[in-house]
Amino acid sequence: MPVFQPGWVWLAGAGPGDPGLITLQVLHGLQRADVIFYDALVGEGVLDFAPAATRRIFVGKRGGVASPRQPEINRQLIEAARSGARVLRLKGGDPFVFGRGAEEASGLFEAGVPFRVLPGVTSGIGGLAYAGIPVTHRDHNHAVTFITAHDQSGDIARALDWPALARGAPVLVIYMGFRLLGPIAERLLAAGRPADEPVAVVSKATTAEQRTLVTTLGACVAETEAAGIESPVLIVVGPVVRARPLLNWFEALTPPQAALKSA
Ligand code: SAH
Repeated sequence: MPVFQPGWVWLAGAGPGDPGLITLQVLHGLQRADVIFYDALVGEGVLDFAPAATRRIFVGKRGGVASPRQPEINRQLIEAARSGARVLRLKGGDPFVFGRGAEEASGLFEAGVPFRVLPGVTSGIGGLAYAGIPVTHRDHNHAVTFITAHDQSGDIARALDWPALARGAPVLVIYMGFRLLGPIAERLLAAGRPADEPVAVVSKATTAEQRTLVTTLGACVAETEAAGIESPVLIVVGPVVRARPLLNWFEALTPPQAALKSA
């Protein structure tokens, strides 16, 4: 294992939720850190791997209250590292997948603070595996496209060429798309994706509360609303969703086993 030196920041991915999905390096970081800065999407139970005395500082969004601004988080990380602490910065999934990890790492670089990046299992791959949806399948797709539905303004990402995605991306895995499902489906349909194309909406993936709704591009907005799905949510558009009936191992577990899986 790498040595966690005082004055360093480890920028780590906590995986999609199930604490069993953290890497050995992240476990090592949790056990050795002096202070942990963590986000809302860090799975329940992950922090339990840290000794009780380790300082834990929440820097995510909670109950609709905005998270501290990025420069403020950067400032806190830099200050903690300069005080000689071993700083673990823990994010949901993988820190470099729609997680602002690169912004934090470049802030550390500019401040001269040494850092290491500990990749994590991203929800768009690991979370879907728990929903019985493979991101690739030889019979269905030779490419997979990871998308963040909104841009910095919070609106649908206008920089994306939706008609090109509709034509060229056989499978779309959409992060942060829950609120924007309507405009997303509208754009894909307008660009020629069939209304009966399968869509999966995967909620709270890898946790004991995981739920998956399988629907279609034409019906997904109404059905998602009716189902009372809760965030965080991943949206998958494409033929790989059809593999789920055979591969849905996690939600098929009896509740005690499912709970045990993510305990
Ligand atoms: N860095 C993270 C993504 C952060 S963006 C990663 O690699 O997974 C936040 C988005 O991730 C959420 O809006 C949702 O789309 C997705 N997400 C993260 N964890 C999830 C989970 N357990 N279940 C469903 N979606 C999840």
